[in-house]
Amino acid sequence: NRRIRLASRPVGVPQPDNFIHDDAPVPEPGSGEVLLRTLYLSLDPYMRGRLSDAKSYAAPVEVGDVIVGGTVSEVVESTVPEFTPGQIVQGYAGWQSYSVEPASRLRLLDPAEAPVTTALGVLGMPGFTAYAGLLKIGQPKEGETVAVAAATGPVGSAVGQIAKLTGCTAIGIAGGSQKVAYLEELGFDHALDHRGEDLRGALKTAAPDGIDVYFENVGGAVWDAVLPRLNTFARVPVCGLAANYNATSLPEGPDRTPALMRSVLSKSLLLRGFIQTEFVESTFADFLRDMGEWVRVGKVKYREDITEGLDNAPATFVGMLDGKNFGKTLIKVAD
Ligand code: NDP
Repeated sequence: NRRIRLASRPVGVPQPDNFIHDDAPVPEPGSGEVLLRTLYLSLDPYMRGRLSDAKSYAAPVEVGDVIVGGTVSEVVESTVPEFTPGQIVQGYAGWQSYSVEPASRLRLLDPAEAPVTTALGVLGMPGFTAYAGLLKIGQPKEGETVAVAAATGPVGSAVGQIAKLTGCTAIGIAGGSQKVAYLEELGFDHALDHRGEDLRGALKTAAPDGIDVYFENVGGAVWDAVLPRLNTFARVPVCGLAANYNATSLPEGPDRTPALMRSVLSKSLLLRGFIQTEFVESTFADFLRDMGEWVRVGKVKYREDITEGLDNAPATFVGMLDGKNFGKTLIKVAD
């Protein structure tokens, strides 16, 4: 069993020596458990938080433990009647080539319905995050303007396309000309490059009547540019702050909290953070029904960025946090 474990907690950008690559015997399933062979590993920005021991909504990975992560796997051996060898499931094996998981945590996938990798992206946790965060908190209405950054990623691309299906104008913000061109392909009304010269000016041109929903994926300079464009009663689902995940201290400069609070007050803004698990019980079935249909008929498109080989996970993960990925970041662990 090939595994990648946490050697030490990264400070700033994770380094190769924060990870141990080693081999262990293939584990054996106990009662109620299933032995799985990992096919695909999902790399997600939240994992950066799990590598730290700062207090968060989820427990950190302990030093020495296998890194956590969502996976698509093949059932090798099962102790329960619900699963049989050869079936494909979505679970949480983490960064290893074999795993033993409780059957209750596994979701059975039908490869005839959609490519199994989509269970980690558009039809999995990231797609669900977009669906629940936008519809439950953002509450976009026909004719409104919705903006989102990290817009070519699995969350942002779904946010923009659902906004379009809701009858909104969609503004996507991404890094670099290739990603901007792809946003136009996805049907975003405006595609802006945050690495370009003047994001504030570009936002003013793209949203002359202001922004009603800003789905916050990144924070940092993008948030600074968006804040002045928010309309009265704008909603901001705060989903992620990818610009800050490797930060080791607060940014330089004056404290802008008073100015932010003044905007929140005077424009009656709603800033509402969320973790997608909050909505799973109430909304996951609706998501699978709607998104499954949209993907099937081509109303929602998706893109995957697949790297071969488990040992490449650390470098691919670090690259993703810096925008090197183009689409949902996956590691192909085995055929
Ligand atoms: P992505 O695949 O979009 O990867 C992260 C992207 O962030 C990069 O590709 C890069 O895109 C962008 N980025 C990084 N640094 C900056 C920066 N300084 N300024 C602007 N953009 C930057 O990730 P996901 O779609 O998987 O996740 C998107 C966000 O949603 C993340 O913040 C993640 O943590 C959050 N999330 C939250 C969940 C929740 O329950 N609250 C659940 C799932 C995800 P580019 O090259 O375009 O700049």
